[in-house]
Amino acid sequence: MDGDSDSQSETRPAKAKALAIQPVVGHVYRMRRQHPCGGWEWTVYRTGADIGMECTTCQRKVMLDRHRFESRVKGRAVPAD
Ligand SMILES: [Zn+2]
Repeated sequence: MDGDSDSQSETRPAKAKALAIQPVVGHVYRMRRQHPCGGWEWTVYRTGADIGMECTTCQRKVMLDRHRFESRVKGRAVPAD
């Protein structure tokens, strides 16, 4: 007779988000898809609930929510040396 069905204190690991990219204002990111203008790289100009990015080739600005940002961005663009 144990009414103690609540004794599981298993700590479930939160979803693995090791690869989530944290946008930083001023950093340049490379997208998975090419912009119609031919550019691949975007500069983040604002962060928050939405991420504002500017195409480094045509200067077009877009706002993406964090989820879209993470799914579209391939990674941080390394500045050419
Ligand atoms: Zn562009």
